[in-house]
Amino acid sequence: MFDALADKLDDAWKKLRGQDKISKANIQDTLKEVRRALLSADVNLQVVKAFIADVEKKALGEGVISGVNPGQQFIKIVYDELVKVMGESNVPLANANEPPTVILMAGLQGTGKTTATAKLALYLRKQERSCLMVGTDIYRPAAIDQLLTLGNQIDVPVFEMGTDADPVEIARQGIAKAKELGVDTVIVDTAGRLQIDDDMMGELSRIKDTIEPDDTLLVVDAMTGQEAANLTYAFHEQIGITGAILTKLDGDSRGGAALSVRQISGQPIKFVGVGEKVEALEPFYPDRLASRILN
Ligand code: GDP
Repeated sequence: MFDALADKLDDAWKKLRGQDKISKANIQDTLKEVRRALLSADVNLQVVKAFIADVEKKALGEGVISGVNPGQQFIKIVYDELVKVMGESNVPLANANEPPTVILMAGLQGTGKTTATAKLALYLRKQERSCLMVGTDIYRPAAIDQLLTLGNQIDVPVFEMGTDADPVEIARQGIAKAKELGVDTVIVDTAGRLQIDDDMMGELSRIKDTIEPDDTLLVVDAMTGQEAANLTYAFHEQIGITGAILTKLDGDSRGGAALSVRQISGQPIKFVGVGEKVEALEPFYPDRLASRILN
């Protein structure tokens, strides 16, 4: 397990041979390697610092190095802590007692928000939960077309009012439509910008206040790296999220953004996107991602 990190830790651990106790002095080199591994997996620096402090405390608490391979024992502490921080088990989507369950999608442009909307709809359909998707991105005409195309492809209806209507009104009428159709879940796709701006946040807030979602999911591109922490902070502070979807995990990224998102917001990653196709969505399993981050 975690061969790459274990190799890197080797030198640090050589110094520890012959010692049978974990002490503040003798784990500093090792902690430095873990810190390097996390930073190279794109975990935000502040998040890394907080995490390392936790691991140090835990390791010192365990005190005694047992067995022939103290390195593996230490990595196990790091791994367990990582899984714990990211949430020990998979947290499912909201499921309102009284349908429709309302899901609001938020995030920057290009993160995979519209694709994730369709991926979720298909995922829910496979679980016998009927869906309606609502397109409120009036700023990018292609966005509504994209949602319509995806809807066709997965056989899920789309509610839209073109690009001249007010996004808040589209969302409101979308929920009314979902009730009229008697669908189980309505997923509201929203406009993204290349950067966080006040107009986007204001509009999102108004949509949220109007439709009172059961789940507000922040879509984060795994390739965002260090920036994921700032993004999460801004969205969580201004609109309040209840979970996240980490997209593009099929790419090179080691997925450190997941740790940042979870640490900053305290909210779980619920799904991961693993490809461009609508089927490429998986529930998030913290243990799998912990292995990926440490490898
Ligand atoms: P939006 O602007 O946030 O709505 O982003 P889109 O849904 O339009 O996606 C932007 C691009 O990312 C498109 O080319 C998608 O095919 C691609 N994309 C979305 N999710 C994934 C994913 O999980 N993996 C990969 N490789 N590409 C993705």
